[in-house]
Amino acid sequence: VLSIREVRKEFGQVRALDGVSLDVHEGETVVVIGPSGSGKSTLVRCAHQLEPIDGGALYLDGELLGYRRSGRGLRSLSERKIALQRRRMSMVFQQFNLFPQFTVLRNVTDAAIRVHRRDRSTVEREATELLERIGLADRAGHYPRQLSGGQQQRVAIARAVLARPRIMLFDEPTSALDPELVDEVLAVLRDLAATGTTMVVVTHEMAFARDVADRCVFMESGRIVEEGSPAELFGNPRSERLRGFLSRHR
Ligand code: ATP
Ligand code: MG
Repeated sequence: VLSIREVRKEFGQVRALDGVSLDVHEGETVVVIGPSGSGKSTLVRCAHQLEPIDGGALYLDGELLGYRRSGRGLRSLSERKIALQRRRMSMVFQQFNLFPQFTVLRNVTDAAIRVHRRDRSTVEREATELLERIGLADRAGHYPRQLSGGQQQRVAIARAVLARPRIMLFDEPTSALDPELVDEVLAVLRDLAATGTTMVVVTHEMAFARDVADRCVFMESGRIVEEGSPAELFGNPRSERLRGFLSRHR
């Protein structure tokens, strides 16, 4: 589904991504772990075209993202075309960014109806089912300020699902939450993974990575240092750096 090829990204002197390649296949859950500043957010932000890349290439279902071939070179796509490509992915951030003036139901359905131009009654029926599934059926008419952080994040995830993306990207979806609210959000992610959603999850929740990832990626200094099944990474880390990281994150 998503192919990241030798991607480089620099911020001034900082090499945030130093030649990262990663393939995410249909139905797969890839979990990205690594220390602060290792480039995890930059990786998913570049994949979602929120940041332009300085080298390499990104493909979604085989289509080059952000550029088109022109003669021997590449030309940037227009913002409009990039926005169209971006709609085929959903990203969920640490901060849930719900619309405070909209009800839960409207927050969940608005983009699917107005941006993705999906049929209203279909979207509303799916939204109702989805809110049920994530334990918020009784909150459809509430406003974000009336919800806990964990509930708000579940609404943000439901909104992302209803856009019917080819792939969902999560950047530390639980790190802004109080500890007692983390599990309810992770449960929704587990459910999505179990029902075949293609996703990339950046997280510091090691138990989640171990249980839910089909594949796990350890980044450091803008590179993928190790990649494999959770059993390989957690059970038999090859690099000193991953061993050190795991010993600090229990
Ligand atoms: P964390 O676990 O703390 O979220 P991370 O792995 O997500 O860390 P990134 O946010 O991707 O790390 O940052 C990678 C590097 O790029 C860091 O050195 C960071 O300071 C730098 N960086 C990221 N975004 C910017 C920016 N907008 N401007 C300048 N430098 C940036
Ligand atoms: Mg980050």
